[in-house]
Amino acid sequence: MRFISTRGISESCTFEDAVLTGLAPDGGLYVPEELPYFSVDTISSWSELGYEDLAVNIMYPFVETEISRKSLKEIVKKSYAGFRNSEIAPMLEFQNNSWILELFHGPTLAFKDFALQFLGNLLDHLVESRKEKLVVLGATSGDTGSAAIEGCQDCQNIDIFILHPHNRVSEVQRRQMTTIKKKNVHNIAINGNFDDCQSIVKRAFSNQSFLKGEHRLIAVNSINFARILAQIVYYFWSYLRVGCPKDGIVYSVPTGNFGDVFAGYLALKMGLPVKKLLVATNSNDILHRCINNNDHSPKKVDVSLAPSMDIMVSSNFERLLFDAYARDANLIRDMMSQVSSAPIVLTNHALSSIRENFWSYRSSDDEIVEMIKAYFKDFKYMLDPHTAIGMSASLEYGKSCDCPIVTLATAHPSKFPEISNQTLLERPELPTNLRFILKNTEYFSILNNNQLEVENFILQKIFH
Ligand SMILES: *Cc1c(COP(=O)(O)O)cnc(C)c1O
Repeated sequence: MRFISTRGISESCTFEDAVLTGLAPDGGLYVPEELPYFSVDTISSWSELGYEDLAVNIMYPFVETEISRKSLKEIVKKSYAGFRNSEIAPMLEFQNNSWILELFHGPTLAFKDFALQFLGNLLDHLVESRKEKLVVLGATSGDTGSAAIEGCQDCQNIDIFILHPHNRVSEVQRRQMTTIKKKNVHNIAINGNFDDCQSIVKRAFSNQSFLKGEHRLIAVNSINFARILAQIVYYFWSYLRVGCPKDGIVYSVPTGNFGDVFAGYLALKMGLPVKKLLVATNSNDILHRCINNNDHSPKKVDVSLAPSMDIMVSSNFERLLFDAYARDANLIRDMMSQVSSAPIVLTNHALSSIRENFWSYRSSDDEIVEMIKAYFKDFKYMLDPHTAIGMSASLEYGKSCDCPIVTLATAHPSKFPEISNQTLLERPELPTNLRFILKNTEYFSILNNNQLEVENFILQKIFH
């Protein structure tokens, strides 16, 4: 399968190159030139498959020119072997066609494990055959860093360096990263804030020569297509668990960078009978304003009770706009040149094509707290703050729709226990096999907010 850039200047490339490059050289995002298509009959015939076999069926057409089916199966198996639930992504049914898809049984208790476990093993496989070594470099304010470290810690051909702002990450999130003791895992606490960490990473990418050409520097942020690919699978999986409803299904997706819900959109394009995708946002509501009022204007980021969705603009939205504008890359290039500083106004045609498949909803912090309390009262089930936003969207949409609605539960409630100060419910506990992180020794290096110091540290570690 070939991949093309949404900005139309970079050449088309293979899956392998799209994954190893991340962001296209022209600043665009890679999307598949064409998608595989599965009929409802084909999809239904997969209802007896386990998660891994289903994943191979769905992902194989994307990678077949570069990865054998057998290797893909091994990569998938390795990726989900450590999940704490044998179903990998269990589904629970609540009243009135309302379902929850639990995506938090991976090592870091959030759905990002689905993509980052897969990406780590995939990268390891790709560079193995190329005889290359990779340096994964990223900055984190919490979530993505730990999922990336978990995904790469057993990879032979990868060293991973994750920067976090010293003393500015929650204890659980820091300990999820720093209690991993592996020779190829390097946690760096920077004397500075998250923006400082991000600037160091950005400058390192623009000055790759500091690695002296023997290693390839790679980012594992949410625009990497392999992450989207892994996330397509659980849309199909949950459709099968609901019993293949012929009249379609609705998904409600707590949304930040638009990666997860974009995977749902690809599932729809690939033949899954998706009736609507609900884009559920917190008070950082640029996507809700855009879909609802054609107001895509960036605002200062609010610190909300659902911090993994605190964004100013959603990077993956560009991929949807590319389709909404009939893949006119020149137009997208113009639109995106100032996306972080100036408003975008969509044409009526583009907006209505988006509204055919998407509907949006916004939850304030108060609504998050109320939703968690109400759900616990009714069902004795604890939602995490992100999932609560998805559930509010589902309930609102469900008032005028009687087909099954699946809410994606993107994090385990114990990952964000501070909210119990507001809900006054019992503080959710970490799953037993994770409590060790609260006691174990931490490993990290504290460095100054200084580019050379960080680059030298990386060099010293990879040539140990
Ligand atoms: C990252 C994240 C989200 C947002 O997902 P996107 O793909 O960025 O839209 C939602 N919930 C949780 C818990 C997350 O970690």
